Amino acid sequence: MNNSAALEVSGLRKVYRSGLFRRSFEALKGISFSVSRGEIFGLLGPNGAGKTTLVKILLGIARASGGNASLLNRPAGDLTSRLRVGYLPENLRIAPHHTADTALLYYGQLSGMSTREIRAKKNALLESVGLADRAGDRVRKYSKGMLQRLGLAQALLHDPELLVLDEPTDGLDPVGRSHVRAVLNRLRSEGRTVFLNSHILQEVELVCDRVAILDRGELRAIGGVNEIAPQRAEGIELDLCVAGEEADLRAALGERGVRSCEAIGEGQFRLGLRLLDQAAVDECVDDLRRHGMSLVGLTRRRVTLEDAFLRLFAESHQ
Ligand code: ATP
Repeated sequence: MNNSAALEVSGLRKVYRSGLFRRSFEALKGISFSVSRGEIFGLLGPNGAGKTTLVKILLGIARASGGNASLLNRPAGDLTSRLRVGYLPENLRIAPHHTADTALLYYGQLSGMSTREIRAKKNALLESVGLADRAGDRVRKYSKGMLQRLGLAQALLHDPELLVLDEPTDGLDPVGRSHVRAVLNRLRSEGRTVFLNSHILQEVELVCDRVAILDRGELRAIGGVNEIAPQRAEGIELDLCVAGEEADLRAALGERGVRSCEAIGEGQFRLGLRLLDQAAVDECVDDLRRHGMSLVGLTRRRVTLEDAFLRLFAESHQ
């Protein structure tokens, strides 16, 4: 066991049996990875990849069929580790008669906190998730985004060392998402660990130190956001805006990898190109100029996590 790991999974398997003939389905096929203390780690994957199954095993809600999972050096599901873990489920249902104030009192007591401890913490917490001015309103009047932020406050109330968040920004508007990001960045600066399950790739890209990509029960990639995105890129992607005659443009481009081309006005074209390397970019620019085309704009596209994700799945689902 790695003592600096906040979360460790080794050869983890889950087989579901269902239906009249107890047909088996392997939702996790022996996955292994670890999350270091202080890391913000994102778990990504398409629908049905096994993400919820993994989170359920980590929290002791479901039993593994094989392998090991541990949180804070204790077996997953162990009661002492649960008290040091904060959890935001995907669809947390808070009884509608609660206000944010009473909900936090209720959940705090469930985690073994005293009323005095809860009262000392809850105002600053509600402030940090942007709910301080609605703390006395009944939850039934809350929007989905407000409920989600209250859920995050509930997960943080007992000062957990490790947070497991299932789709924390689901249903949030840009302001709500920035509140959540600010909270996650604060947690990072306090040295806490966050395990984030999200399908909003731009969010993951903004906050996570490392990500794992799960697909049909297997890990397809794991690493830093910046490592995973470029390693999936093939060549250089350019967005170009050029002016000139269409025939000259065709002649200049020849057999080059044109991904898109549209006329955007009098003699102007917007192009998307994928070229092998910088030498190919230089050669392409030279050819365009030689054919009398003017370069109005040229930008190199950054390969995002979303590009990497889509390419990975285009390859593995062929
Ligand atoms: P989503 O993004 O859609 O929530 P997910 O990655 O969380 O998907 P899981 O909910 O873990 O995926 O499901 C993984 C696979 O296991 C799916 O094929 C699902 O149908 C199957 N599965 C999940 N729970 C059960 C169950 N209780 N019995 C049988 N099969 C199940």
